[in-house]
Order: sequence, then C-alpha cells, then structure tokens
Amino acid sequence: MVRIAFQTPGFADFPVEQPGEIVTLIWPDDGAEVVLPADGWRFPDGVPEQHARNYTVRRHDPATATLEIDFVVHGDHGTASRWAARAQPGDRLGYAGPRFHWHHEHGDGAAWNLLIADETGLPALAAIAETLPAFQRAIALIEVENAAERQPLRCAGRLDVTWVERGGVHAGETLALADAARTVALPDGAGHVWGAGESGVMRAVRDCLREQRGIERSAMHILGYWKYDDTKDWIDA
Ligand SMILES: Cc1cc2nc3c(=O)[nH]c(=O)nc-3n(C[C@H](O)[C@H](O)[C@H](O)COP(=O)(O)OP(=O)(O)OC[C@H]3O[C@@H](n4cnc5c(N)ncnc54)[C@H](O)[C@@H]3O)c2cc1C
Repeated sequence: MVRIAFQTPGFADFPVEQPGEIVTLIWPDDGAEVVLPADGWRFPDGVPEQHARNYTVRRHDPATATLEIDFVVHGDHGTASRWAARAQPGDRLGYAGPRFHWHHEHGDGAAWNLLIADETGLPALAAIAETLPAFQRAIALIEVENAAERQPLRCAGRLDVTWVERGGVHAGETLALADAARTVALPDGAGHVWGAGESGVMRAVRDCLREQRGIERSAMHILGYWKYDDTKDWIDA
C-alpha cells in the first residue's frame, strides 16, 4: 500500500462529507496531457483514451487543500498500480468527484457494524471506523497479504479486528474472508454489514452472511471494488 497526497486549490472546499467517499482518478496515455471529461463524462473529439479508476478519499484536509489516497500496488499490469509505484512529487492526474456510498443512516439503529474488506476496501473501512459512534460495537475482518500490511485503526467505540493473511496466495484466489465471516462472533441484536473487495469474494461473503448467519440483504452494503477474473491471463502466463 502506498499513500499519496494530492494538492490542488479545489480541494480547499472539496465536498467530502461521508467516510470512504469515492474519487475517479484519470490518467492519460504515457507522455500525454490529462484531458478532463465534460458534462456526462464526454471527452472532446479526437482526445486519446484516458484511463479512469475509482479510489477512496482516505483523508481530506481542507486547510492544506490536500487529499490522501492509499493505493494497493499490485504490479505493473494496471495503469493505477504502475503509476502509484513510481509516483514523484509534481506528477499530475485528473479527478472527478467526490461521490459517496456510505451513509451514516446505514448503521442507524444497529447494535453493531461488521466491516469486511481486502486492501482495496481498507481505506474506506478505516475511514468508516473512525467516524462510528462510540455506542456501536464494530467488528472488522480485513484481508491483507501478510502481517506487514496491517494498519492501526482508530474507532471511538470498541473495535475487534481480525486480520486475514493470504500468505502468498494471490489476491482474489482465496475465500478466507468468507470463512472468517462464517465464524466471526457477532454481538446480540440487529447489526449492519459494510464490505468492499474483490467482486467474487464479496459475493461469497454476502451469500455466507445471508444463508449461514441469517443477516437480511437489506442490512448489508457489500461492494465489488475490483474483478479477479481479468487477472487470470497474466497470472497463468
Ligand atoms: C468505489 C471504489 C473505491 C476504491 N478504492 C480503492 C482504494 O482506495 N485503494 C485501492 O488500491 N483500490 C481501490 N479501489 C480498487 C481499484 O479501483 C482497482 O483495484 C483498480 O482495478 C486498480 O486499477 P489498476 O489500473 O491498478 O488495475 P486495472 O487496469 O484495473 O487491472 C489490471 C489487472 O490487475 C488486477 N487487479 C486490479 N486490482 C487489483 C488488486 N487490488 N490486487 C490484485 N490484482 C488487481 C485486475 O484483475 C486486472 O487483471 C476502489 C474501487 C472502487 C470501485
């Protein structure tokens, strides 16, 4: 994971209101200038393809007009990952957003919040945990490559964290998060679940929570942040 800070005057009044808000980052082809889309995500005629990826606002500081984003560096086969691994002060990107997908009302009335993520969802999970009210218990299941990838998490109330380490297995090739969801101790009362990570893994997590833990679909907001299927070609190669 690489944390990169972005600065531009527009970030002084960037309307980040909820934890884990999303920005779309835009990269031009190598050596070309960034071109931003106009209304409705339309690029001017003749512009070479721009590469857009979604990322999470890990921290926003209006005073310094700074936005921090945590990038998973997963190799050179992805535009974003390749860029993040080599980013230098002064590099420029385009951005659009922010937009939110976590509402505080999601957890309202819940006795506890279960937060589940791989590294791509960890920035949002950490930001959500930081804003949960002290009276709500929080339980986090987080998949990372190894112990070195663990991060300190802050939460006003009690937060029980289980780190699920892949230990050499490629991301997207293990359902260990679903196994953890199957067995994690949950407090009494009705809870709310938020999750983000590889699409297939998150589907397995959601199915497991619904079928084996009896959690209603309406009490879960579980999102796919990336797709493993596309990865197979270069892994097998
Ligand atoms: C709402 C939202 C918020 C997100 N927030 C973050 C964030 O804060 N930090 C973050 O790192 N990611 C985040 N992601 C995930 C990120 O957008 C994807 O991982 C994206 O595919 C990375 O782009 P890339 O150019 O590096 O790789 P791509 O060009 O998209 O993919 C290239 C190859 O890499 C594989 N791949 C993609 N991501 C991973 C990965 N994490 N591990 C292993 N293989 C991978 C793909 O399967 C593909 O084969 C978020 C996604 C969404 C939808």
